[in-house]
Parts: sequence; structure tokens; C-alpha cells
Amino acid sequence: MVFSVWFAPLRRVGLLALYAIGLGFFTSPVVAEVLGEPLLDKTLLERLTLTPGALQQAFPGAQEVVFVDGRPPVVEVWIDGAVAGYLFSTRDAVNATGYSGVAFDLVAGMTMEGDLVGATLLYHHEAIIGRGVPQEKMDEYIASIAGANLRSFSSIRPDLLSRASTSGRLMKRGLLNSAEMVFQGHVLGVPPVTEPTLDRGGFAPFSFEELVTGGSILNQAVTNIEMFELFQKAGGRGSLPDQAFKDGEDGVFFELFTSLISPASIGANFFGDVKYRRYLEDEPEGGLTLWVAGDGEYSFASNSHFRKANDYLFDRLKIVQGGLEIRLTRDMHRRLAVSRGPSLDHRNIMLFHLEADLGLDPLAPFNMVLMVAGKDGDGAPMILDVPMTYQLPERHMLLPPPVPLPMWVETWLEKRVDIAILGLLLIVVTIIFLLQDVLTRHRRVYEFVRVGVLAFTLGWLGWYAGAQLSIVNILAYIQAPFEGTSIEAFALDPLIFILSLYVAFTLFILGRGVFCGWLCPFGAFQELLHRIGRFVRIPQITIPPTVLERLWVVKYLVAIFLVVTVFFSVEAAERYAEIEPFRTAITVKFARDWQFAVYAAGLLSIGLFVERAYCRVLCPLGGTLAILGRFHMFTWLKRRHACGTQCRICESECPIGAIQTSGKINMNECLQCMDCQAAYYDDHQCPPLIQRRKRKELGKTGAAKRPGQVSSPAEDGQKNALRHRSGSHG
Ligand code: SF4
Ligand code: SF4
Repeated sequence: MVFSVWFAPLRRVGLLALYAIGLGFFTSPVVAEVLGEPLLDKTLLERLTLTPGALQQAFPGAQEVVFVDGRPPVVEVWIDGAVAGYLFSTRDAVNATGYSGVAFDLVAGMTMEGDLVGATLLYHHEAIIGRGVPQEKMDEYIASIAGANLRSFSSIRPDLLSRASTSGRLMKRGLLNSAEMVFQGHVLGVPPVTEPTLDRGGFAPFSFEELVTGGSILNQAVTNIEMFELFQKAGGRGSLPDQAFKDGEDGVFFELFTSLISPASIGANFFGDVKYRRYLEDEPEGGLTLWVAGDGEYSFASNSHFRKANDYLFDRLKIVQGGLEIRLTRDMHRRLAVSRGPSLDHRNIMLFHLEADLGLDPLAPFNMVLMVAGKDGDGAPMILDVPMTYQLPERHMLLPPPVPLPMWVETWLEKRVDIAILGLLLIVVTIIFLLQDVLTRHRRVYEFVRVGVLAFTLGWLGWYAGAQLSIVNILAYIQAPFEGTSIEAFALDPLIFILSLYVAFTLFILGRGVFCGWLCPFGAFQELLHRIGRFVRIPQITIPPTVLERLWVVKYLVAIFLVVTVFFSVEAAERYAEIEPFRTAITVKFARDWQFAVYAAGLLSIGLFVERAYCRVLCPLGGTLAILGRFHMFTWLKRRHACGTQCRICESECPIGAIQTSGKINMNECLQCMDCQAAYYDDHQCPPLIQRRKRKELGKTGAAKRPGQVSSPAEDGQKNALRHRSGSHG
């Protein structure tokens, strides 16, 4: 393992020289990350040579390092002539991947006691780090790894990464799995257990009683009367020998103890270490040793195994496992002359050594079958098999580490409260749409509900939970079939995943408006700000429909550009997707470089003068959803014959100009805000309803007013519409 005496110092000098060259240039994980994927072609030692900070941080006193190409490959760190620990990489050990689906290279140091002493993230491709979540947070998270140990990883806190906590969890799991592999393979020097095996060498102290009650030793007894009944059930009359009943019905017909004593935690406890080892000397290689002790009227051992005529077989005892039957012979057995305390004070105590090629599986249950001689119904001799099942307890087995819950399940469990709240929000929005005809008839209630949902969407969904659906998500879904991204990878972010499913469903049913009108945090931000602006009477700019129609095209062009770009370069597409201000305004709440903050704030400011300006003109997500939702099944927004012909109040009521002069709603642009529906049902705003109301009122009073005193329904409607849009309903 260690190089020859003269070569080691030379190598040390060489490595230290390389460290010195690298020092100052490559000491931070950030710089290492910039080195990027080409590093992954190199061995761990070569990668460490380029990032000496990793070694220094984990083992400051390191004097020598040795690359060990084992399973997994590690770098052995020597201090004062002894191995102080190992440096290992998650990539080399388990090839753990991050949220991006790309393997990260997290190098950690571990002592011989299993303590983690430092870690460095050499490479990752988690897009949100450095953009949504600051690099300092990642550094803080990586620093929290030092201090953990194999028994407890709880000090490693993925929540430090807030919105990148899924990446953090994946790194933590990759680290844990790798550390266990390194400890098992390099510190303990035993190959990792991949399937259950008999634990022959592991020892834990157990008393005889504990071995019996824990199932390590099978103990079964049958009384005379029970044996008699067993024979009767089998159509026989009774057992031989006749003296079986000499102690009466409740006398013990037989009692059997049996156990596999090959595991030290049974055999050494039972016989003591010295005798146990002596007995094992006769155990065939890879074979098993079975201990059997019997008592009672009926001995499990007649003298048949001494008789050649019987082929030296034990005629009263055999082993059955599934279709396998093993007959015990004289050659296998060894009578134990020694009794050891009252527990072993039985008439017959024997060991049986079983060759491996007999095929007995020590981990599976098998039956010790006592063959009891008796008489059948006609008085002729018969043999009754009495099986007793033995199952070696798991504590005497080496089991592979339990398969952890899939990562996405763990994440869903962890975020179950958020998932429940999102579920409630989606139920509320669904109910709003199902009952929109009822809701919009009551303008005040509708306004209250709308502002309430928008505030919740912005505050909880966006700012608190960070579940702002983005064009980046749509690009990832588009890429999935080509990249082979599994559905589990998407499920790692449960809120976005659930939201995406809901949006896909509602796109198909009603179009883009369910999301854009109610569930987009940035859309809600714009609308709430605009409402405040209207309230404080910020002047509003109305874009002429002909200009607006041309501006709408921009967002479709941006969307198409991004979708095409992603097929050439995911990184470029993600960079251009910064046209969305979502990450800045919602995910990190403006805690970002000033250019991004100014951009997002600028868009929001424009929205004070032109309602939902960003949604209407620029938003690639809105554009993509409009394209995907183009052939939705239903349109629940109501229109009248008079819309666009005799009246254009709804057109002026629509905050985003989605109602054409013909009165038809352009569903590609419509946000399903339902403002026009509130006007539609308002008998003080919608002229046909005003007319109907007035006719009713006239009918009630029976008095006709003079024409000069009566305003026309359209005039009334216009006045009320102006009042609503000027903020009195906002
Ligand atoms: S258009 Fe864009 S910003 Fe506006 S609501 Fe839709 S997705 Fe959100
Ligand atoms: S006012 Fe009517 S047409 Fe305009 S966005 Fe709202 S629901 Fe759509």
C-alpha cells in the first residue's frame, strides 16, 4: 500500500510542489467549480492536486497521501507514520447526482473513527446555486459537513440551502452512502454486504435464555397425550415405545433443542470461546454446525447410526428445507460428553457438521423433523413425522444496508405541510372556477376573494414556498424525453411538480388563465401593485388595440427562441430565461445583483401604469402556456349578443385588453380574472341588465318617469364601469 522507502519522500515533494503551485488559485470550491467537467476525467488524487484546499481543510497536518484504487477509490492520508483517514469523492463512490441530474463531485475527509473532518464541493451543476441561492449559502452548507460522523449525519442541514434544499439533501445522501462504503471497505477492510449472509464472526453476548427466547435456539416439547392425538389425527393408534405413557398423559414425550451454532454469537455464547473454536475445527469449509439436544421419553437418537444395515443413518431425525431432505449420518455427528449447567443436562446432546454441498440455506427456515415410530389403524408399524421449524434470527446475519426511501418520497414527507396547503389553494381556485357564475354576481365578495387569493399566491406560494412556475420548468419538461429525465427527478420539487400537473390539466380544460390569473406569484405581484397604484390614482396608460396586438407577439417570439435554444444549449437557455424576473422578485426577494433587482423593479414599475405590462408583452411562460392551451376544451366566460355591438363596457373593463372590439374574448391573452364577468352580472353596469332592472322597478312603482329624468342603460353602465376601473372597487 505504501510505496518503497526511497520513493515516498520524492512523491511527497512532488505533490507538495503541485499543491504550492495550485495554492492561491484553486483554494475555493467556487474556483474549483469553474474548472468544470474536464476535471472529472482525472483520478481523485489528480483532482485533489488541483484543489489542495480540500486536503488542507480536512487534514491540516497531512504529510503524505496515497491513492488507493479500491472500492471505492480513496486517497489515504498519512500523519506521523500512520493512516489518519481518507479523502473520498461521492462521484467515485456512488456517482450521486444532484437536482440537475448531473453528478456532483463532493470530496470529504473521514477519520478512522468515521468522523467527517471537512468537505469540498469540487464540481456541481445545480443551476440555482449562485443565481437563486447565493454561493455563500452553499459554502456554509458544505462547511456544516465537518463534525458529522457515520452514526449521525443530523448536523448536516440541507435547509441551510433554503430553496436549493433538494440539492442539499441529494448531496447529504450521496455523502452518507459514500462514507459508509469507505468505512466498510477501507477502515473495516470487509467488502460491503450486498446480500444477506451468515454472520459467522460477529459476537454479542447472550445468555442461554436470551438465545431461546430470541429464537436463536429452537425449543419444542410434546407431551404424551399430545403425541397420542397427533397419531390419531394421522389415522394411527399411538406411539411406540409403550412405556411412553409411564409418566402419565402430561409426561414429556420428547423435548428438543436445536440451533445452528456456526455464528459466534450463538456458539461462543453457548460453549465458551475455546470449546466453540474447537468444535468449529471439524466444521467443513463453508459448511454448518448444528447442535441438537433432546430429552423426554422418546430419544431423537436410537442406535441406528451405529448399524451398517441402517446405512449409519439416524432413523429418528432429519432436516427438511423446501424440497431438500437431509438425512443425518454417523459421520456427521459428534456426541458431546460435556454437560454445561442444567440447561444442557439432556439425555442426548450432539453436534452435526453439515457439508456446504448438502445445500442447507442457513438463512431460510428449515424443519427439524422427528420421526416417531407408532402403529397405524390396523396395528401395523407406521412412522409419524413431527416437524419443528427453525429460523435463524436476523441478528446472526449480515444484512445489506436497508434500501433508503426514494429521495422524492423523503422530500414529499418532509414537505407534507406545504403540499397540504398547496392542495387547499388549488381546491379553492378550482371551486372559484366552478362557481364563478355565483361568485361574480356578488362583486364585493368576488373582489375580496380575488385579492385574498392573489395575496396568498404572492405571499405564501411565491415568497414563502418559492413555488414560482417558470419557463425553466417548462424547458425541463420539454427536454425530459430527449435527456431521459425521470419523473422522480421532477417529483423532487413537490410543489412545482404538483403545480405543473394542475396547470397542465387546467390548460387542457380552460386554457392558460387559471394559472396566469390566479396562481402566478409574479402575476399576482403586478396586479396587487397595480391595484395600489390605481387606489393612489397613478395615471393609467391605455395601449391602443392595434399596437397591443403587435406587442403580444413579442412574448411568443421569446418563448419560441427559448424552446429552440434549449435544444442547442441548456446553459444558454437558462441564461436567456433571466428575461423572467421571477427568480429575482419572487424566489430570492430581490437579494441579488443590482442589475437583476433593477430589471425586476423596472418591470413592476411599468406595471403601475400599464396593468400586467410584463404579462401582456414579454412573459415567455405566459406565451408558452397560451400556445399549449390554445385548444382548451371549455370557455366558461359568458358573453351576450349585445357585447361588442351595442355595448363595449366589458372591453373597457378587461385589465389587459383581451376583449376584442367585436366583443369576442381572445382566450390566448385572457387571464380569466373574471372582471368582465363581474360586469356581466352587474345590473348597474351591464346595459341589458340595467334595462331589465329598470323595467322591474318601473313595474313595481307603476309610475313613468319623464324621458329627461331617465339616463340610458349604456350611459349608466359606462358611468359605473368608470367608477370600478378608477379604483372604487379595487
Ligand atoms: S403572463 Fe407570465 S407573469 Fe403574467 S401571470 Fe402569466 S406566467 Fe405570470
Ligand atoms: S376581464 Fe374577462 S376577458 Fe379580460 S382577462 Fe379578465 S376574464 Fe379575461
